[in-house]
Amino acid sequence: LPARYQGQQESVWEEYIQLAADYDPLDLGQGFPDFSPPEYIISALDQVIKDKDIMLHQYTRGCGHPRLTSILSKLYSHLIGRNIHPEKEILISTGAYGALYCTVMGHIDQGDEVIIIEPYFDCYEPMVLSAGGIPRFVPLRYNNNNSSILKSSDWTLDPEELEKAFNSKTKAIIINTPNNPLGKVFTENELQMIANLCKKWNVMCISDEVYEWLVYEPQKHIRIASLPGMWERTITVGSAGKTFSITGWKIGWAYGPANLIHNLVIVHQNSISVCSTPLQEAIAVGFEKEFSCLGQDNCYFTSLPRQLEQKKNYMANFLTKMGMKPIIPDGGYFMIADWSSLESKIDLSAENDKYKDYCFTKWLTKNVGIQGIPPSAFYSEPHKLLGEKLVRFCFIKKEEKLNKAAEILEHWK
Ligand code: PMP
Ligand code: GLN
Repeated sequence: LPARYQGQQESVWEEYIQLAADYDPLDLGQGFPDFSPPEYIISALDQVIKDKDIMLHQYTRGCGHPRLTSILSKLYSHLIGRNIHPEKEILISTGAYGALYCTVMGHIDQGDEVIIIEPYFDCYEPMVLSAGGIPRFVPLRYNNNNSSILKSSDWTLDPEELEKAFNSKTKAIIINTPNNPLGKVFTENELQMIANLCKKWNVMCISDEVYEWLVYEPQKHIRIASLPGMWERTITVGSAGKTFSITGWKIGWAYGPANLIHNLVIVHQNSISVCSTPLQEAIAVGFEKEFSCLGQDNCYFTSLPRQLEQKKNYMANFLTKMGMKPIIPDGGYFMIADWSSLESKIDLSAENDKYKDYCFTKWLTKNVGIQGIPPSAFYSEPHKLLGEKLVRFCFIKKEEKLNKAAEILEHWK
């Protein structure tokens, strides 16, 4: 294995997908819906497959199928409040993973420092390391507000700690709002604080916004690229998988100023080269439909978070009833819960992982039949202890499945 990948052999996804295959638990682990995507996106793909236009079965433009980059430019121009060029300022890649990879590889050089806010989506760290960069981690700190209800907004950045992480070697900061796994939606003040530091230190911002449409009222998703002076230094990443509940299609994108996108294009053209034409065409049809009804009740971007709000509340209730302390997310489709009050009731001695949340989640899969994800996977080594008392569950699941999960946990308690 080349040196640039040394130390990156482990992946919580590989490990837990195998665990699920071996024990067949009720799966609240990896994040994906277990119900159908919107009907129009399936029929759009069906139409494309049947279409007489044989070109839809052939390679399309490398940096993005024109129909898709065109509608994305319309949508984000509207949301960001400036004209986004469909060919020069958008890149379509293999999921948000592909877009993040092109961003990191296209901008981070040997010795560059990259600030990562913890907990973070786990792939940021290996991507930065394999580009030769040096990750600098800044954890969100829990502020006890004496309330019995824990909320993702109780986790905030310590302004001094953040400021100290910036220096003349800092090349970029990676943020993720709404955050996976915590569900935190960064407020305008927090984003402004990050923006001010980026401008002060001439740092680029990589903003992972794959859950941009999954925000619970009264929270609002704010795109850091829309703050003053930030467009010119921000790459924003999105995912069709998360947007239309089609995680298996693996189409994502990055948008930002042409000079920054240019570097991503170099990485993409020399690795992925071109993404699937029929999938991009169908996703374009989906966005065209959503754009025509944006903000209305019949818009999927409006109805999906409403539907999820109920699932979120239901999960928070059943976790509380069985003695866990859920952290209520403001966005995304994961819920973190503190399971430490159950520790005295269970015997984790058969599991010999280094971190207790790994032992607990493996034990839960094997003995109770429910799968969650260990949150220490979303922390850097020195901070993994911050995740040990926690477990992450995914709630974008059918009502029957959530009922069943509640029943299993109730029975086990
Ligand atoms: N970023 C975050 C925060 C995620 O949760 C995920 C997983 N969906 C990704 C990026 C990768 O998304 P995709 O499946 O589109 O590659
Ligand atoms: N984003 C999804 C999650 O957090 C899945 C990631 C993956 O499979 N690599 O569960």
